[in-house]
Amino acid sequence: MTLPDAVPTRLFIGGDWCDGGDGAFAVLDPSTGEQICEVARAAARDVSAAISAAADAQPAWAATAPRERGEVLRAAFELMRSRSEELAYLMSLEMGKSPADARGEVAYAAEFFRWFSEEAVRIDGALRTAPSGANRILTFRRPVGVALLLTPWNFPAAMATRKIGPALAAGCTVVLKPAEDTPLTALLVAKLLAEAGAPAGTVNVVTTDRPGELVTQALGDPRVRKLSFTGSTGVGRTLLRQAADRIVNTSLELGGNDPFIVLDDADLDAAVDGAMVAKMRNGGQACTAANRFLVAESVAQDFAARLSRRMGALRMGPATDENTQLGPMINRRAVEGIADKVERTLGAGATAVLGGRRHDGPGFFYPATVLTGVPRDSAAATEEVFGPVAPIVPVKDEREALEIANNTEMGLTGYVYTSDLARGLRVCESLEVGMVGLNRGLVSDPSAPFGGVKQSGLGREGGYEGIDAYLETTYVATSW
Ligand code: NAD
Repeated sequence: MTLPDAVPTRLFIGGDWCDGGDGAFAVLDPSTGEQICEVARAAARDVSAAISAAADAQPAWAATAPRERGEVLRAAFELMRSRSEELAYLMSLEMGKSPADARGEVAYAAEFFRWFSEEAVRIDGALRTAPSGANRILTFRRPVGVALLLTPWNFPAAMATRKIGPALAAGCTVVLKPAEDTPLTALLVAKLLAEAGAPAGTVNVVTTDRPGELVTQALGDPRVRKLSFTGSTGVGRTLLRQAADRIVNTSLELGGNDPFIVLDDADLDAAVDGAMVAKMRNGGQACTAANRFLVAESVAQDFAARLSRRMGALRMGPATDENTQLGPMINRRAVEGIADKVERTLGAGATAVLGGRRHDGPGFFYPATVLTGVPRDSAAATEEVFGPVAPIVPVKDEREALEIANNTEMGLTGYVYTSDLARGLRVCESLEVGMVGLNRGLVSDPSAPFGGVKQSGLGREGGYEGIDAYLETTYVATSW
């Protein structure tokens, strides 16, 4: 598969495309394991240059009329929409998303630019009278400053736009470091932003396959005021420690171990439809992916049979093939990790009613897998699997479902299926998560606050709340 001509492969700093000071690294097509191209590897001086460009551009960008900032984002939204086929193809190529998932992500990603183009003009302050009546309290918002944005490989467009959109709307400038497996999509998004009118230096992209040192350097730079990270909990924890040295304002979107609860009164057709989305979107490689199915004993067998039929019917193949419904995993390490968790779960007494064995041959594939009779303390029920594996844990009742669901340090998303809305809402309130799909298998929505509790993250992205991460509040005490 070939790379479309328009896709940049160099660093984007201060409005210019430049070579990396540390050579280049290979980007692979996970459908074949073959190299697509090489991308510039940034050196320490490139990171400094990107931060300088962002810091130099920031005051003028913050002083730009909110409407103008919004219009740049709106133009970027339109460009993403008009170039959606190219973006979708690129994500299928470098990340392995099926064509339908890739088109879905482009639409989702572009919506963050539209949403935050509308939020740019709604940044408000407040005026109130102190309880004593002695003075007034006036508040206004201002941008945090230069933001360092670190994104994962699983949603290469949406995780970038979910951060760049609110940052630019707020008047911040950014240095984006995309994941090493999927740098191309981020570079193309940056190119579209420049075409949309984002001034030189407002958006900078540095790529590397050696992120540790460069990110430590950036977090130590006094001009960086904000860190927004999406990725694994382990790396997030390390970065939070590093951010502590300079008290860098930090937002974290981390891993999940999301429960999908099917109560005994659920509409099973609807639950299976929802499970297909919650489990199989992006081949199960989503932080919001249902990781464990907690299903009432009375319906567990029926649910497993129906889900296996649907998952087993998915066509697995190269991601750029229009017929493909389940593409490859991101890399060999990911396949090995999934296989290891499945093997340990089978060893603990579970049964594979679909799949359960890794796929031989070129590319990084793992077949759709359904495990039944999964012990609640086994690997697949306690660790983030991040692949097309549905472990089904039978539960006695709602109380046991909740007890298992909350018995984890993660708290990103939960799903609940029941025909009784009041019962469903009661379960939603008791789930220790940031988001719940109640009789729905999809929670992601640019206009809703996305984020987790416990070790799944700090802060929210998207919705009215999303811009707050890039704003500070200043208060003026006065009287007249
Ligand atoms: P990862 O933590 O390995 O990488 C994320 C980013 O951090 C990448 O840009 C990577 O280059 C960078 N990175 C890696 N090691 C680093 C280090 N030592 N110092 C600085 N930066 C470093 O995560 P991943 O494998 O790319 O993504 C999968 C994880 O992301 C899963 O756990 C998933 O649940 C999570 N995720 C969360 C959300 C969310 O919104 N909560 C969304 C998508 C993915």
